[in-house]
Amino acid sequence: MSVRLPILYIVIPCYNEQEVLPITTPKFLNKLDELIKIEMISSKSRILFVNDGSSDDTWNIILNYAKENPRILGICQSRNRGHQNAVLAGLMEAKDSADITISIDCDGQDDINAMNSMIEQYKKGAEIVYGVRSRRDTDTFFKKFTAESFYRLLNWMGAEVVFNHADYRLVSSRVLQEFANFKEVNIFLRGMFPLVGFKSTAVYYERNERIAGKSHYPLKKMLALAFDGITSLSIKPIRLITGLGTLIAVGSFILAIWAVIMHFLGNTVPGWASSTSLICFMGGIQLISLGIIGEYIGKIYLETKHRPRYIISDRTDNFKNGDCL
Ligand code: UDP
Ligand code: MG
Repeated sequence: MSVRLPILYIVIPCYNEQEVLPITTPKFLNKLDELIKIEMISSKSRILFVNDGSSDDTWNIILNYAKENPRILGICQSRNRGHQNAVLAGLMEAKDSADITISIDCDGQDDINAMNSMIEQYKKGAEIVYGVRSRRDTDTFFKKFTAESFYRLLNWMGAEVVFNHADYRLVSSRVLQEFANFKEVNIFLRGMFPLVGFKSTAVYYERNERIAGKSHYPLKKMLALAFDGITSLSIKPIRLITGLGTLIAVGSFILAIWAVIMHFLGNTVPGWASSTSLICFMGGIQLISLGIIGEYIGKIYLETKHRPRYIISDRTDNFKNGDCL
């Protein structure tokens, strides 16, 4: 009896990756061919590149690959929208043609061999399989420290994310159909998939160094992503402000009683320094709090616009209208 093999779409976001693509594309293709050959996946499986508005030759390279190889498809975003939106565009495009998708960066950092175990886990019933880095030996101390603090901060702030999991993950089309109902424009995929639910598991792999080109996630962008992740997924910062406010109010009350007692004991001196520092402290706290609240209001503002999260401006000939020819 022959079982129907799942159709896999490997979704790969690319932003200015002209140096990397010629090195990693043959590897992705070999992996796809191998998986087809060992009958883990259907021969209708594809690689789907998402060009995220690159300013270099990336899109032309993808167009050429698609001409040479029918297993390579490509879509092009109308402009650079960021990694998360590029992955989202790819997943949404793939969800009706594929049974499973695996999103992976195009720079060769994630071990493609982990795909075998991901698909095995899918066959055992998992609908989402998170690729988790088992170690970070190849990262510098600074990158390792900042990245790990990033996950701790996210979890502490109430954004539920899988530790050391980036965006290398298998997701079934069933989950993607449900995920399509998450209409928010502020997206942080790795924190959103756990919210969809379904049976999930993790596969461990070792992350390598970037093969060529340079990272698009320096510290500044990573901090922005962490902040975005927290404010998109959790209202814990607002609760913390309430807690902090209460704490300071109680502290101030005790201080006021103390000041009155001191006054009656005749121990008071003209307190310019202490009042100034108190005013500064309170001003600071209030400004930070206002800023955080403003951040949420900003998000609400963006959400109410209902703008499209991605716009596809171009497709490879073999992937017109989202249907694979
Ligand atoms: N990327 C993207 N749009 C962007 C920035 C990055 O599609 O605006 C892609 C990039 O081509 C790569 C992946 O996202 O495939 C991860 O980026 P990068 O390797 O620079 O990040 P890092 O691995 O250093 O965190
Ligand atoms: Mg990378």
